[in-house]
Amino acid sequence: MKLLKKSNGSLALIALMVLLLQSCKKEDNGSLPTDNITAVYSLVSSSGVCGGAVVGGSYKPGVALDATNTVTLQVSVTKEGAYSLTTSTLNGYSFSGSGTFATMGLHTIALKGTGTPLALGTNTFLITGGSSAACSFTVTVSNNTLSTQPVDNDHLLFGNPSNAAPITDSAGNYLMQKGYYTLSYNRDRGTPNWVSWHLYSQDLGSVSRSDDFRADNTLPAGWYEVPEDAYSSSGFDRGHNVPSGDRTNTLSANQSTFLMTNMIPQAPTLNQTTWARMEDSLRLLVNAGYELYVIMGSYGSGGTGNNGFQTTIHSGRVTVPSNVWKVAVAIPNGNNDTTRVDAATRVIAVNIPNANAVNGNWKTYRTSVDAIEAATGYDLLSRLPVSLQAVVEAKVDNR
Ligand code: MN
Ligand code: MN
Repeated sequence: MKLLKKSNGSLALIALMVLLLQSCKKEDNGSLPTDNITAVYSLVSSSGVCGGAVVGGSYKPGVALDATNTVTLQVSVTKEGAYSLTTSTLNGYSFSGSGTFATMGLHTIALKGTGTPLALGTNTFLITGGSSAACSFTVTVSNNTLSTQPVDNDHLLFGNPSNAAPITDSAGNYLMQKGYYTLSYNRDRGTPNWVSWHLYSQDLGSVSRSDDFRADNTLPAGWYEVPEDAYSSSGFDRGHNVPSGDRTNTLSANQSTFLMTNMIPQAPTLNQTTWARMEDSLRLLVNAGYELYVIMGSYGSGGTGNNGFQTTIHSGRVTVPSNVWKVAVAIPNGNNDTTRVDAATRVIAVNIPNANAVNGNWKTYRTSVDAIEAATGYDLLSRLPVSLQAVVEAKVDNR
């Protein structure tokens, strides 16, 4: 009995020591990740879409993701330290990232994709993290080989000003890639919010103006398609965003500029004098050895055309903007375009009232990119480093 008891006590002591060792080990493993996450930050988002979100790599069903499958997005850091972010798993894959924020302010971070997409489709990943509400980004799983990472000469190489998305929920900010240009369409205005395009010598040829005005039949089912005659007798011109003159290398390129999703009701004098002259000036830069990234947009309601002031035309289906703006970044012909922008790069920005009573000299309307950002709420040139944006966006061109 005594012997047994003693032996039981030794066994109990050994068991207790093993338990203690195990619990120590367990506590070390469990505490490391959470104790080291000290950063305070919030996800930057615009209408729920992760700010600056750029999805890299291609996504094909049954093909495992690798190091090229990333998403970069912006976070605003208010306290330095380690961070860790993970998305939910959708369609067999997910994104996660961790690291350390060494400084406060706006940072762009990359999350890496892992897993294997199981099926074709569009997957919208939600991220929760930091001190803000969640935001989301969208990945398309398809069998084509197109990369979603903007490459040189991509129409959105310098960024997506309003984080437009190609989803029908985004009816006020719907991304459309037309091949020859990319735009954010506003279903309820019946016009684009902005149109963005790359322009270089290869776009300029000898094709004459096709005048092939037509409704855009690629809009989502059920959305009103502004017809080619919607502006008839309205007192406003069908004002191109991408000019016909910027797409004269092939017939299909030129015809693409006549889609009604590329038009705004523009005061005829503005369209035919001031705006046309600015378009000519930008093409002269191309002839002088520059390539350009151009963004044109419009906002507000109410312009003055040949029939006086109007806020809408075509029975209210098309909004007449109050202002029309353009930003052009001009860099000498070359490669790796975003890396060749510096403080001396010519950035030409104008903001002009949509009225017949305009000055014919576009240069009198020059302004800064910052002023256009303030008026529209967009972030232009967002794929340039924030410190460089601060410099080039504050300047007003004077050449
Ligand atoms: Mn700015
Ligand atoms: Mn900007």
